[in-house]
Amino acid sequence: MKHKRDILHRACILVAHPDDETLWAGGLIIMHPDWLWKIYTLCRASDPDRAPKFLKALSMLNAKGEMADLDDGPEQEPLSGSDIQNQILTWTGQDHYDLLISHGPQGEYTRHRRHEETSRAVQTLWKEGKIDAAELWLFAYQDNEGANLPQAAAGAPIQFELPDDVWQKKYRLITEVYGFTPDSWEARTTPRVEAYWHFNRENRHQIQKTKLEDRL
Ligand SMILES: [Zn+2]
Repeated sequence: MKHKRDILHRACILVAHPDDETLWAGGLIIMHPDWLWKIYTLCRASDPDRAPKFLKALSMLNAKGEMADLDDGPEQEPLSGSDIQNQILTWTGQDHYDLLISHGPQGEYTRHRRHEETSRAVQTLWKEGKIDAAELWLFAYQDNEGANLPQAAAGAPIQFELPDDVWQKKYRLITEVYGFTPDSWEARTTPRVEAYWHFNRENRHQIQKTKLEDRL
């Protein structure tokens, strides 16, 4: 994986839940220990199970980060876009990032409202220049409406297969740090190919809230 490796240094991952960073981008993080990683999750700060696991994962990924505690109840009531944006801005402030990473416009599987809401907030803030980042990468996975486990979207412009040792480390984070059993959806999903939609100043107008896969 030669692309960008030598010029990107400051990276920020904004996700809905602890484990999303590992599941969807863990390989990228593990393969770039020299980058400065900041990882933020919008939910679960007060979850006595997930919160300490996230901190342990951060430590193993050599990343810094924080959690917020936005509602993540089973009803998945819609969150206010401005609440999400305001929370994100308390973290990103005036910082400059070379790379900003978040959920795909449709999330990664069918379907989780928090993933989609997070993606939308990050897209908006980045397009409006409220987050200063040279590039935006959005997770590019699809599950064909739940017919299969999420896997790299065929049309994604950035995708790479993880070397086995990298995938093993990512898998251990999911199973040993986050504690998902080998037969869990998470462990079975843990992608071997990571994939991202890629935006920069030139193509930022192509980001829409709808079916990105159909147009790229
Ligand atoms: Zn999630």
